[in-house]
Amino acid sequence: MPSPYPLLLSELAAEVRPLLGQGRVADYIPLLAQADPSRFGLALATLEGEVCGTGDDQETFSIQSISKVFALALTLSRLGDALWRRVGKEPSGNPFNSLVQLEYERGLPRNPFINAGALVVTDALLSLTGDACGTVLTFLRAQVGLSQVAVDEDIAESEWQHRDRNAALAHFMKSFGNLTHPVDEVLRHYFRQCSIRMNCRQLAQAGLFLANHGLCPDGQRLLTRSQAKQINAIMLTCGTYDAAGEFAYRVGLPCKSGVGGGILAIIPNRMALATWSPGLDSHGNSLAGLAVLDHFTTRTGLSIF
Ligand code: GLN
Repeated sequence: MPSPYPLLLSELAAEVRPLLGQGRVADYIPLLAQADPSRFGLALATLEGEVCGTGDDQETFSIQSISKVFALALTLSRLGDALWRRVGKEPSGNPFNSLVQLEYERGLPRNPFINAGALVVTDALLSLTGDACGTVLTFLRAQVGLSQVAVDEDIAESEWQHRDRNAALAHFMKSFGNLTHPVDEVLRHYFRQCSIRMNCRQLAQAGLFLANHGLCPDGQRLLTRSQAKQINAIMLTCGTYDAAGEFAYRVGLPCKSGVGGGILAIIPNRMALATWSPGLDSHGNSLAGLAVLDHFTTRTGLSIF
């Protein structure tokens, strides 16, 4: 029987077309501000090996905060529960780059998906491997094939030039002893990791280990079953920042968004979905991406609830 997914994805893409061009593209760095909000891609990869997509699904984009999922998985797999002594796992209810809670919590970020938490994870991965961004890149290449995945060095440089907010977060945590490496070194790795370019098909394939209890498609075990459950749970509760409640309500899947307009969504035991459209809502999540994932789970019934 032919797969129902290619047709379904193109129907869903047509449903969200009226939203394209709405929303605001990220403008905290000039290079992201040039993105075209009318672009839209959607793809899925199943545990059976099917990969399909629609629209701009083969156009690469800056994965930004979606990289935090891979950095977390690669760190947790090496460090185990000791990581949770340096970063929490509770939703923040605040914007991704917020400083406010760090003071009350004495430099301990609420979760690994806000910027402060991701900086701590990058610092830990640096201690474990000596090359945090390189470790993420090597993993992603292994998932989608050789050198197809690369850092956009222009975006990384632009992030560095406009680093004030992230530098403030990092310095503040360092003052509490929660960063081991020099702030600039952590920031460089973090910005390069955020500047990795992938397309929707590649991103869906790279997320499959989370749909398969920590087992990668090549048979390599990255995470224990329990760790894969933990990361999915944190994606559900924290992966889309202060809109995690709305995502759980409308999509009902573990998701991770990035300000480049990408969203990775996991359907445990089945597949990973990835969508990209640069027009963002006020929380920094893709407007059309949220809508299309909502339509997907509503049409198929494939949510975790
Ligand atoms: N590079 C971005 C930042 O650090 C990532 C933010 C995001 O995608 N939410 O501000």
